[in-house]
Amino acid sequence: MIIIKDLCKNYGDNSVLTDVNLSFEAGLVYGVVGPNGAGKTTLFKCIAGIIPYSGEITCMLDNLKNHMGFLATEPYFMSFITGREYLQLLCNARNIHVKNFDDSNIFDLPLDRYATNYSTGMKKKLALMGILLQKNQIFILDEPFNGVDVQSNLLITEIILTLKALHKTLIISSHILSTLTDVCDFFIVLKDGRIDSNVDLEAFKEIEKEMRKTEIGNKIEKLGLR
Ligand code: ADP
Repeated sequence: MIIIKDLCKNYGDNSVLTDVNLSFEAGLVYGVVGPNGAGKTTLFKCIAGIIPYSGEITCMLDNLKNHMGFLATEPYFMSFITGREYLQLLCNARNIHVKNFDDSNIFDLPLDRYATNYSTGMKKKLALMGILLQKNQIFILDEPFNGVDVQSNLLITEIILTLKALHKTLIISSHILSTLTDVCDFFIVLKDGRIDSNVDLEAFKEIEKEMRKTEIGNKIEKLGLR
């Protein structure tokens, strides 16, 4: 279980996260939604321990970082490193021995090409494959469905459901609400760095209906489409 207590994060004078209190249990999938700039990525970076923050983030496991796989929106790769070398590096970090990466290359990635030359979707799939091979307990996936083809999206959805069945903790952000509602048990709505709501699937569907009403309103009529 991960417990977040009174989390705050500022960038200079800009308060990005304010008084965030949350808990995440194993065997459940949590969806984090909110408009651009709401603070989703910043929240993920705080949990992943990538950036400093005030407040407390604790976990039942000895050292959260050693059990967590973080998929960034735009994964970063060092120059002149092939996909295969990248996977080897991630496995080395966890002392995991994989005989042949080709056997687990479910996304058909060109593993002997430089990762920096991969397309956006391929980079995301390589980074995801890396954290899966690490056999982490906790997965933070920032926009896992973005920029990835339909076939891979189906596969990623199944991967998420399989990890849930394996009693892992999953925290996911996405703007594709229909995909999120397919996999998530709970939904955290962030607004201006604060938790606007933290609800189950049924309650989120109501919130989604309201969102549609308020966001779309009469905007289409204003276009005067004929
Ligand atoms: P989201 O993921 O919900 O779109 P972010 O967490 O990326 O939102 O950003 C939240 C706010 O924090 C935005 O106003 C963004 O401009 C600001 N922000 C994010 N990263 C930085 C940074 N490194 N320096 C300054 N401001 C940042």
